[in-house]
Amino acid sequence: MVQHSTEQNSFRDTIATAEKSGRRIWIFPAKPKGRLYSARTVVAVFLLAFLFGAPFVRVNGEPLVLLNVLDRKFIIFGLVFWPQDFYLFGLALITFLVFVVLFTAVFGRLFCGWICPQTVFLEMVFRRIEYWIEGGPARQRKLAAQAWNTEKVFKRSVKAVLFFGISFLIGNTFLAYIIGTDQLFRIVTASPTEHLAGFVAVLSFSFLFYFVFAWFREQACTLVCPYGRLQGVLIDANSIVVAYDRTRGEPRAPMERGSRAAELGDCVDCLACVHVCPTGIDIRNGTQLECVNCTACIDACNRTMRKVGLPEGLIRYSSEAAITHGRRFRITGRVALYTVVFVLLSSLLTYLLVTRSSVETTVLRTPGSMYTETEDGRIRNLYTVKIINKSFERVPVELRAAAPRSATVQMVGTGLVVEPDGMVESAFFVDIPRDQIFSQSTLVTIEVYSAGEVVETVRTSFMGPGRRAEP
Ligand code: SF4
Ligand code: SF4
Repeated sequence: MVQHSTEQNSFRDTIATAEKSGRRIWIFPAKPKGRLYSARTVVAVFLLAFLFGAPFVRVNGEPLVLLNVLDRKFIIFGLVFWPQDFYLFGLALITFLVFVVLFTAVFGRLFCGWICPQTVFLEMVFRRIEYWIEGGPARQRKLAAQAWNTEKVFKRSVKAVLFFGISFLIGNTFLAYIIGTDQLFRIVTASPTEHLAGFVAVLSFSFLFYFVFAWFREQACTLVCPYGRLQGVLIDANSIVVAYDRTRGEPRAPMERGSRAAELGDCVDCLACVHVCPTGIDIRNGTQLECVNCTACIDACNRTMRKVGLPEGLIRYSSEAAITHGRRFRITGRVALYTVVFVLLSSLLTYLLVTRSSVETTVLRTPGSMYTETEDGRIRNLYTVKIINKSFERVPVELRAAAPRSATVQMVGTGLVVEPDGMVESAFFVDIPRDQIFSQSTLVTIEVYSAGEVVETVRTSFMGPGRRAEP
């Protein structure tokens, strides 16, 4: 990390958006422009299309993504997960966490700048609207300082209406991920009194997003986001971050009449990187907690470098080790370990997903029932069966006894057909000839067949009279 004296490091004692007294310092960043900002805009368009579209896109009649925590039903890219798949969810979560740790150790906060919905919405949607209504940072500052005259009331009202409208859209989309679009449509189109809870949820989410994007802004990344807080332990000197090349830039000094003394560094102290930063920091101080790697300072500095005729890349994606020691990227022991753990976990997860049965069967001996004896000398037990269909197709199923060999299954009622993404409950008997029963509890294996293939095997116990005493 960058070595600074205690005095130079004093900026680390406070965050850039708060005075020593704790009072908020409002940031008025300059509008970014440049190659990276254009690339981020393209990425943002795709991400926004996905975020708003995913709950509405249907695959086999089901949403592409559904995270219904209320009914504990999750659909991710066409794969349905029920509460019975919780172990898969747990494993997927752990795998994802290891991936995040690995990705951050190598690429720092790349995710925050390019993918995180907070940055995408704030910088690509809300901030652009703000520039459009209030103008650049100087005019925004002036508007904020002036009294509430007609201009200020008008501009602030238009901004508030637009911000709330978009927050309302985000709030509805967020809810669509949880309850599905059909249920959301019912809530939106019915009278609020018919769906009071849903109506309150829509409004609560809308106000929450309005609060975050209109007022809380970069504080969410600095103060609340757990991922941001973890950066200190996840990033090391080899991580690639947005970094200022101080070996090239220092000693900094303004350009004088287009010339540059040989002993000076390339930083012309134009402060363009500081003015454009949405978190209010000076990247020249080194890697900081507030930096979300948005790359705005890279674009700003490259513009300055082009203007003064110096090479671009004074601020760039690089690692502290590369800047200080000129060391190229290398795989450290930590990264190698994370990679091995990630590969193992993702392989296990893939195996479990691929071999996962499309049906989930639960068989229980009917509570309180005893065994009975049929007229032809067989012992009979009654069971209940619950079958969940995790696929998007109708699944006709049949139960057969696989062990003991003499056991037979007899369904109560007609055959079983489980609707797509549905569940069916039924009952069946298992019969075993009296002379094949050797204990009071016999292990029975039931095979679940669909389209002539065994899709699942379940085991249960069979109660009987036990072995007859020899005469
Ligand atoms: S320092 Fe640069 S990359 Fe980091 S938040 Fe500020 S502008 Fe974005
Ligand atoms: S934009 Fe570049 S040249 Fe200007 S102050 Fe920042 S680092 Fe120095």
